Amino acid sequence: MELLYKSTRSDQTPVTASWAILKGLAEDGGLFIPERIPKLDVPMEELAKMSYQEIAYEVMKLYFTDFTEEELKQCIRFAYDEKFDTKEIAPIRKVGQTYYLELFHGATIAFKDMALSILPHLMSVAAKKNQVKNEIVILTATSGDTGKAALAGFADVEGTKIIVFYPKGGVSPIQEKQMVTQKGNNTYVVGIHGNFDDAQNGVKEIFGNQELGKQMDQAGFQFSSANSINIGRLVPQIVYYVYSYAKLLADQEIVKGETIDVVVPTGNFGNILAAYFAKQMGMPIERLICASNENKVLYDFFSTGIYNKNREFILTSSPSMDILISSNLERLIYKIAGEDAKANQERMAALSKEGSYCITEEMKAQLKDFYGNYATEAETADMIKELYEKTGYVIDTHTAVAAAVYQKYQKETKDTKKALIASTASPYKFTRSVMTAINPDYNTMGDFELVDELSKISHTTVPRAIEEIRNAQAIHHRVCDATKMTETVKEILGIKK
Ligand SMILES: *Cc1c(COP(=O)(O)O)cnc(C)c1O
Repeated sequence: MELLYKSTRSDQTPVTASWAILKGLAEDGGLFIPERIPKLDVPMEELAKMSYQEIAYEVMKLYFTDFTEEELKQCIRFAYDEKFDTKEIAPIRKVGQTYYLELFHGATIAFKDMALSILPHLMSVAAKKNQVKNEIVILTATSGDTGKAALAGFADVEGTKIIVFYPKGGVSPIQEKQMVTQKGNNTYVVGIHGNFDDAQNGVKEIFGNQELGKQMDQAGFQFSSANSINIGRLVPQIVYYVYSYAKLLADQEIVKGETIDVVVPTGNFGNILAAYFAKQMGMPIERLICASNENKVLYDFFSTGIYNKNREFILTSSPSMDILISSNLERLIYKIAGEDAKANQERMAALSKEGSYCITEEMKAQLKDFYGNYATEAETADMIKELYEKTGYVIDTHTAVAAAVYQKYQKETKDTKKALIASTASPYKFTRSVMTAINPDYNTMGDFELVDELSKISHTTVPRAIEEIRNAQAIHHRVCDATKMTETVKEILGIKK
């Protein structure tokens, strides 16, 4: 059955999956959302016998209904291959009574790889399907991980260019080095003077700039987005939740139908929204535990029903979660408002004008699947240290936020259900924060010395992604003001002022 995508902000005519992937955002500024959430049509016991790639197909075929079986299977083949350092793609590590779903075994050792390894291929098929002649320009704002993962995914993919904006000084040194050393003739990396929200707002503005859109078209270009608002990012993220449940079942860690809790370190609300979709599709998830760092907009939202971004922006040791506007939350808001596009549009207008909006009691009642909490910087560091000392397992700062919030949750609720923690980055990506959490004395060591020390204490090998940048030279040196992003894009594309 064909599944079409509508906008969260108006009742414009629904579009096909390939069109939604190509466009990223709806014309009215809304996010694309499927007209209904499909149910898994293969029993879990069957899925339990399948590989990651096979499960990916079973999930994606339900959403990307205008892709042929061959097209979809080819995209999956191209995406989930030797770029990942394990055949399992997303292995589960049991530590004590908790399962860590390691989503960091791809090219850039963070969970963004899970979706960004496939998005370029989906987009390339989508372009052909829709007879697109223009070159596709991927424009991305990143708080660190998306940028590199998108660059790696799109580098030298025919018919595309990719421009990444990141907050200069707002990402880890290793994240920055990963980006500015990116090869590929179609890759551009720009540091902006501002924070992630400035970068994201700048990108949104460029997308909404119709004059620029016309100039682009004349020059043979059109924009698309690889940000987590793209439905081509969201759907591949549903896969690993379904996969993890199937795997736990196959390994007899759980019994058929047993519900589990899922804990997700959250920034833009993409990853946890995928878990919510997995639940709607029939995966037995009880609670969706939304973990924030000190930028705890979401925690406040879940406790009060008021979303308010008017607050200080805090730079934390989990920079990929340093976000005050969680873009993907809009899809949830839209759903719990009874898919009322007008009401949603009004809330989003309030968010952009006043920086806040509130939801009704009726809507709030529909959020009972969610539990929100946050971890302070000290709690996050303590979590890393405690887990390492008790078990020898080293987790990164983002995962530690989730683990710390999960501890609070257990204490508060006495819930004893099994829990799956989305482990979103390799500790090698945030080595300094991780190592100094374990022992502050490590702070005197250099970045790569720390990498080797981490390898020693955790008995793990240094990932390829880190070895690659050890001696690489920076290729990208562009920096601009947050207010000059449009000009920078024009300059890169050779479009006259
Ligand atoms: C992006 C990211 C997150 C946040 O994910 P969202 O989908 O934006 O909520 C958490 N941890 C890491 C390491 C990330 O890269």
